[in-house]
Amino acid sequence: MDRIAICPGSFDPITNGHMDIISRGSKIFDTLYVVVLQNSAKSSFFSVEERVQLIKEATQKFPNVKVDAYSGLLVDYARKVGATVNLRGLRAVSDFEYEMQITSMNRLLNQELETFFIMTRNQYSFLSSSIVKEVAKYGADISELVPPVVEKALWEKFKQK
Ligand code: ADP
Repeated sequence: MDRIAICPGSFDPITNGHMDIISRGSKIFDTLYVVVLQNSAKSSFFSVEERVQLIKEATQKFPNVKVDAYSGLLVDYARKVGATVNLRGLRAVSDFEYEMQITSMNRLLNQELETFFIMTRNQYSFLSSSIVKEVAKYGADISELVPPVVEKALWEKFKQK
């Protein structure tokens, strides 16, 4: 049986922390769907289409990684693509409470979906999309923090704004 997993998130934009989870996940699962979930509570910096495009470019070296967008419940998306695993990254204790809450809710909504966590590499434990945007706004060097396509897209976006 094919092991299909989903790796959901905002990815606004994708960082090397996300890339670490995706690359390690792609070795464990037969197919990994990276899915940009449209979150009504968060206003985004990049549009959904832009985020999907950036993830596609950054993950093209992984043949079993597919990129998608979805507006709706994660558990419904998992059913749609036949996924049995929800793959999440954990950075610090501060992620734990939130992850515990959504994992419990997802389990209530779909008992067939198991959530797996991968601990991030130490060098990415402080890294988030928000912090990258914050420092990039002031011209900091972000080349070690995001894939090259994202670095370029961020500079272009700040030029437009
Ligand atoms: P969400 O809005 O669902 O938190 P994010 O795009 O911020 O979406 O994160 C998606 C997933 O990637 C989450 O599981 C998050 O914990 C994980 N993640 C984010 N940044 C990192 C990082 N630096 N290292 C490991 N995992 C990360």
